[in-house]
Amino acid sequence: MAIKIGIPRGLWFYDYYPLWKSFYEELGAEVVLSNPTNKKILDEGVKNTVDEACLPVKIFHGHVLDLKDKADFIFLPKIMSVYEKEYICPKFCGLPEMVTHSIKGLPPIIDTEVNFNRSRKSLMRTVYSFGSYVTKNPITIRRAYKKALESYHDYKLKIKAGNYPINGDFSSRDEKKSSITIAVMGHSYNIYDNYGSMGLINKLKEQNIHVITPEMVDYRKINEYAETLEKKMFWSYGRKLLGTAMYFTDAKNIDGIVYLSSFGCGIDSIIEELVERKTRKRGGMPFLLITVDEHTGEAGVNTRLEAFIDMIEWRKRNESNLSTHG
Ligand code: SF4
Repeated sequence: MAIKIGIPRGLWFYDYYPLWKSFYEELGAEVVLSNPTNKKILDEGVKNTVDEACLPVKIFHGHVLDLKDKADFIFLPKIMSVYEKEYICPKFCGLPEMVTHSIKGLPPIIDTEVNFNRSRKSLMRTVYSFGSYVTKNPITIRRAYKKALESYHDYKLKIKAGNYPINGDFSSRDEKKSSITIAVMGHSYNIYDNYGSMGLINKLKEQNIHVITPEMVDYRKINEYAETLEKKMFWSYGRKLLGTAMYFTDAKNIDGIVYLSSFGCGIDSIIEELVERKTRKRGGMPFLLITVDEHTGEAGVNTRLEAFIDMIEWRKRNESNLSTHG
């Protein structure tokens, strides 16, 4: 019987899951994903996480619980850094410890450290360590990793081509029917989690609004803009979001930005402020900040979103200098 590897549908899932899913399947394991976020997953996550944690970390705990009795191993890497000389949020680094401390009776955890600040050789050792839970054969692991990189590359291209990985699934696509274009910004695990984001992308799509996300922008462009920052942004997510906002305000190819942030996120509190300032300074772009936690009511979000869209439509019709803040 194949070894079952459980992958929680949260946090890094939205950036990397095709890589690890394909890797373990190539090695002959069965990959089990937790269910898309729902009320039960959210409630269980909130109950089993420290109060101070941000919403995505609470949701992640709910996903681990969802897998508790369904897998032989739970994939829970310790992600320190995914780009040289940069770091991921400290909560990613301490995730294996946080989860195992809060949830008892879990199957063994695959908690290999991912750290791109180490040498290339050490990165290959990381891959062998991930693979060793299924096989000890380095040639098989290397071959599986090569295939996994191809899947990851295809996934990125698919998003760039206008497909939204909502809950990790590509059933929603950008059709570009509307004259209004809105950039939905925020961490991938916030904007693509349909339940956690209160269906933000789908709500805009239902109104025939053309939605762009940071993952649809050419990465070289984002880097070019990020390099013009006075001080290097060493948080990878922060650099990506700031570079994207600067690109949008210069390219003037969008009508507004909706930034979805998590209450209690230290990185977001800095980035959303900088994004708002940059957009205001560089183009007077309409900007709406939506900050969510487990207590946020959907009705309030809907009202603010509708008012924001009305304001954009009004501006487009009248080309006035109406306030840019929703
Ligand atoms: S970057 Fe912010 S939202 Fe993401 S895990 Fe860290 S604290 Fe939470």
